This record gives sequence, C-alpha cells and structure tokens, in this order.
Amino acid sequence: MKQAIDIETLCAQRGLRITEQRRVIARVLSDSQDHPDVDKLHERAAAIDPGISIATVYRTVRLFEEAGILDRHDFGDGRARYEAAPEAHHDHMIDVETGNVIEFVDPELEALQRQIAERLGYRLVDHRLELFGVKLGRES
Ligand SMILES: [Zn+2]
Repeated sequence: MKQAIDIETLCAQRGLRITEQRRVIARVLSDSQDHPDVDKLHERAAAIDPGISIATVYRTVRLFEEAGILDRHDFGDGRARYEAAPEAHHDHMIDVETGNVIEFVDPELEALQRQIAERLGYRLVDHRLELFGVKLGRES
C-alpha cells in the first residue's frame, strides 16, 4: 500500500551527486516495504554490489536524511530504522515481540492532534506517533 518513492529523482532535485553505490542504496530503500535498519540495508545493497561497505551505507543514509529524502525512526529497539520520506503522512504501530511495523492513518486522530495544538496556541506542522503493542491472542 506504500507508493514507491523514487529516491534517485529526489536526489537529483536536491542536487545530490549520485554515485553508483548511492544509486544502489537509493534503489534498495525505494524498494523496501519494511523499515530496515543499517545492517539490513547493507545486506540488501551488498547483494546487488558486494563492494558496498557498511560505512558507505551509514554515510549515505546520513546524507539522504540530511537532504530530507529519508525518515529515521526509533522504534524502541535502539536501532535507527529508515524509510523513504513518504509523500503522504502515516503513523506506525510496532509489534514489540516481532518488531513488525504496521503503517496506518486515522483522520480522527489527525484532527484531534490539530485541535490539541490549536488549544495550546499552535498550528500543527508535523507530528510523530508510534504505538507499541503485543498482538491480541498471542499473549501468554
Ligand atoms: Zn512508515
């Protein structure tokens, strides 16, 4: 349900020089339906180009993040997780047992957050919401 975001195009728009290795990492990120950490990104990128080091992946995600074409998340396991900056906003539900991440949008919740900000004297420009849960029926 996530629309494919072309990071290469975004790099070009932001004036980022795109090397072959960056291109591979960009493609891996664009193709990822999950929210991979650096290790997973490196594993996938190295499967395409074995010359890509973990240091290159670290540098590249930092570069992409600074350019605003990548979102970094902390889903509570101490590892930074990445996704291509989505065109449409969504929030995350994290399964604390499996690490699975479900994306969702709730219009009522969005409206409520705007109201809260207004009540506090602000116009809401951004928010992040992470829900952490244990799947019903799996509790022991
Ligand atoms: Zn997401």
